[in-house]
Amino acid sequence: MLANVTKKLHFGRKTSNPVHGNMAKHFNLEKFMTLQTSRAIRIDQHGGPEQLKLVEVSVGDPGAGEVRIRHHAVGLNFIDVYQRSGLYPMAMPLQLGMEAAGVIEAVGAGVTHLQPGDRAAYASQPPGSYCDVRVMPAKSVCKLPDAISFETGAAMMLKGLTAQYLLKRTQPQGGLQPGDFVLFHAAAGGVGLIACQWAKAMGLQLIGTAGSDAKCALALANGAAFAINYSTEDFLARVKDITAGRGVKVVYDSVGKDTWDKSLDCLQPFGLMASFGNASGPVPPFAPGILGAKGSLYVTRQTLFTHIATRESTQAMADDLFAVVSSGQVNIHIDQRFPLEEVQQAHRDLEARKTTGCTVLTL
Ligand code: NDP
Repeated sequence: MLANVTKKLHFGRKTSNPVHGNMAKHFNLEKFMTLQTSRAIRIDQHGGPEQLKLVEVSVGDPGAGEVRIRHHAVGLNFIDVYQRSGLYPMAMPLQLGMEAAGVIEAVGAGVTHLQPGDRAAYASQPPGSYCDVRVMPAKSVCKLPDAISFETGAAMMLKGLTAQYLLKRTQPQGGLQPGDFVLFHAAAGGVGLIACQWAKAMGLQLIGTAGSDAKCALALANGAAFAINYSTEDFLARVKDITAGRGVKVVYDSVGKDTWDKSLDCLQPFGLMASFGNASGPVPPFAPGILGAKGSLYVTRQTLFTHIATRESTQAMADDLFAVVSSGQVNIHIDQRFPLEEVQQAHRDLEARKTTGCTVLTL
């Protein structure tokens, strides 16, 4: 459990609290009448999970282009680990978290796609979703279909939109056709289990890697055509076997340092190396000449935030995600739940490769 909540507010505790007469003379009442407090998880410096502190913060009204959303559940993502550890350097102090679902409480000027009372979910910059309530830019927030629960919404937005842009928008020259082989590392993780199911729905033969036999079984049960335990097997040799020596059209690689070199060798000529993460550490610098020697390969380093830079593309991608989830083609596996105040343990388990599927912080 985390240490006691640090009180940050000095005036009142809740929006509804009366403000005493004397105070009314000295302060702008309207401003304080809408101020409320929220529990939040914050770091004051980069470091291990022990840096995650439960604090109380003030939350005001949304400005132009913003909404205030009261969360019902919060999603945990590996990017939260990078931002906490300093692999991705961030300005301090930092309220962590990139994904959540809840109910819109208030909308600022110019927001037309949401209104108070709407169920909603998002994956978005800036960080700050580890909390009960927050103000944030509206453009990344989407209405959540009634058929999708808050927990599922919180678990799936960042990971599901990532699977969407990888499989649909990050394709080799000539695209992907049913029957094509793709290699997907960490296939039993949050993004991985969604990708296994979605790839199957697209008719692709996804070869998944994972760090244990149990995780491989999970990937297979969720649509992977083949699974390789890369802790005990040479994944390059297995990929060559499975594809009769031809290799795959795309490698989707979020593991980074540990898988990079062999992943390039898994590709067909003109194949695409789609790097999108660094769970084992960042990919070391490499000489472009090796791409020619290995078969005129393409390399890209993708991030979700380029794809969801506009309201239009965010909504189009979210509609695609909502459709595959609502139809049952993709099930969102929430395999771990932690109360918000146990976020340190959630981070430890994610980094220690103890989790599968998605993890949700409950409020
Ligand atoms: P996961 O649930 O997939 O957890 C990460 C997994 O990586 C682990 O479970 C583990 O699976 C595997 N892994 C391999 N080596 C290591 C290591 N040394 N330490 C820890 N884990 C390792 O996380 P997410 O679903 O949240 O994210 C998956 C990946 O996708 C992450 O790298 C994340 O940064 C990236 N990502 C990138 C995005 C982008 O747009 N660029 C957006 C979203 C996610 P196993 O034990 O099976 O090897």
